Amino acid sequence: MLEKIIQIKGRNGGPTSMILAGVHGNEPCGVEAFKRLLPSLTIQKGRVFFGYGNPEAIKRKVRFTEADLNRMFKYRTGIPKKDRRSYEYQRAQFLKKYLNKVDALLDLHSSRKVKNKAFVICQANGFDIAKYLPVKLVVSGFDNVQPGGTDYYMNQISKIGICIECGQHNDPRSLKKAEDAIIAFLKARGHIANNLKTKKQSYMNVYHMYVTKNPIFTLTKYFQDFEKVRRGQIIGTDGKIKVGAKRNSVILFSGNENQPGQEAFLLAQKIKRVV
Ligand SMILES: [Zn+2]
Repeated sequence: MLEKIIQIKGRNGGPTSMILAGVHGNEPCGVEAFKRLLPSLTIQKGRVFFGYGNPEAIKRKVRFTEADLNRMFKYRTGIPKKDRRSYEYQRAQFLKKYLNKVDALLDLHSSRKVKNKAFVICQANGFDIAKYLPVKLVVSGFDNVQPGGTDYYMNQISKIGICIECGQHNDPRSLKKAEDAIIAFLKARGHIANNLKTKKQSYMNVYHMYVTKNPIFTLTKYFQDFEKVRRGQIIGTDGKIKVGAKRNSVILFSGNENQPGQEAFLLAQKIKRVV
């Protein structure tokens, strides 16, 4: 039942959009928000597809079963051969059929980090929607350093791809954030009347992702997302290599890893809004 895409159509013509939940199966806020909102949701204009990203991973409550679905939206040749045989690769091909039909996407995520504050990920083409979403921070630049997500795919086909990180996985506030984000996105897109004021937001750009080279990568400490790191500060040890920050930055998505080729952390810097 989670496999199917749900379509809600308005009485009047209008834009087409898609909202995804559970692209990572261990991130329940979007999935729960769908359960709460969809049974009574009315769309006035256009049509909206609602999809459960990774049904098998949602059932098992794991991030993914064979490969990270949110890295399977690259061109085929950019995906390792073994991942191309995965359940998630197949699922990405199925979801692309719907992404191809719509002009904008909202993809709902959450984080393992405690005290995580909500933020939006998009490129400049999404800023006019992002300004209505319930967050204080908009982060760009992921397409260059961490390609292959749903938002990356939308940008590649000249459409709008927006991800929202709603907070910590099991924090009830993340569920509330996901519900608010869905409604705000529908309003910003013109599917329902927009009575929202724009939010005051700051902007950041991700400029670096560290990928591990050795079997054991250990962070020097627990880093909260958006914690400041100084130029030269050692962030972790990759085998015997000490890995530091080249500039004053903030760190996000950091974790200890136990294989080479893993995404250990990202670095970002504040930017002025560029349109
Ligand atoms: Zn996620």
